Amino acid sequence: LMQLSIPLNFIGFVYREIRQGLADIEQMFDLLDVQAEVQDAPDAQPLKVSDGVIRFENVKFAYDPKRPILKGIGFEVPAGKTVAIVGPSGAGKSTISRLLYRFYDVQEGRITVDGQDVRDITQKSLRAAIGMVPQDTVLFNDTIAYNIRYGRTGASEEEVRKAAEMAQIGDFIKTLPEGYDSMVGERGLKLSGGEKQRVAIARTILKAPPILILDEATSALDTATEQEIQAALDFVSEGRTTLVIAHRLSTVINADEIIVLRDGEIQERGTHGELLNQRGLYASMWDRQREATEVQARLQSMRE
Ligand code: ADP
Ligand code: MG
Repeated sequence: LMQLSIPLNFIGFVYREIRQGLADIEQMFDLLDVQAEVQDAPDAQPLKVSDGVIRFENVKFAYDPKRPILKGIGFEVPAGKTVAIVGPSGAGKSTISRLLYRFYDVQEGRITVDGQDVRDITQKSLRAAIGMVPQDTVLFNDTIAYNIRYGRTGASEEEVRKAAEMAQIGDFIKTLPEGYDSMVGERGLKLSGGEKQRVAIARTILKAPPILILDEATSALDTATEQEIQAALDFVSEGRTTLVIAHRLSTVINADEIIVLRDGEIQERGTHGELLNQRGLYASMWDRQREATEVQARLQSMRE
């Protein structure tokens, strides 16, 4: 029996290594695929960030020429302000964030950062200036400390710990048997969507970029987690030019401008109060979400 268990263990080990290797290769191809879409211009200059003003001017875009996704979008995120994009799923919200990060190029119009067309600057400098907290964060198979420090590889242990606390994940990490040295990712501890998102926020706090893109989680989070994530997001966006793609309208009340996107067009825009007064799509989305929240609260109290 002893003789048999060794090779079997070994086969298990080899199998896991190969499977992980395949997963890594897949991830690598995903990255390569995305990066192959755009190239630096031969005379590309590094981005010079002064205030971090973002402008979309008459932006038109389609993944497939037969099916336009953005049909002439224009808006500005002034320095240090927050603009929220809301709207039905499939409206083109995440596409806007991908274009700003320059995963793709616009087909008409232009996108500028502090007056510089994103097509004229190096991708490296553009991406160094932008912190992206995606909807679904993929963690590296490494320690949780490594995953946070990825935001700024030179950060000290103290800085990593502070960023984790600001992102409201510090207390959770302390409960792990190996604390900051706990392995996470596919081969380690599986974190929930909310926990992974807070790791991404901690990373972004360390990176401290002048521009932020936040794509909020759609999944129904419990109220406590939602409030913790909101506190973390508020903290990280303070004083930075922020584009937030919001699913929970409760998070956009304080945005300087809310853009309601539908079928690739801006249907309404304004502050929360202005949009409620218009009694249009935003107001009906707001009513629907409030009803859903109330039903949830009633179900909760019935269970207790
Ligand atoms: P939202 O974030 O508002 O839900 P997206 O910007 O992700 O919407 O997508 C807008 C539309 O573009 C959707 O119909 C989606 O199916 C399509 N789309 C998104 N990504 C791609 C892609 N890589 N290739 C082709 N179509 C895509
Ligand atoms: Mg989306």
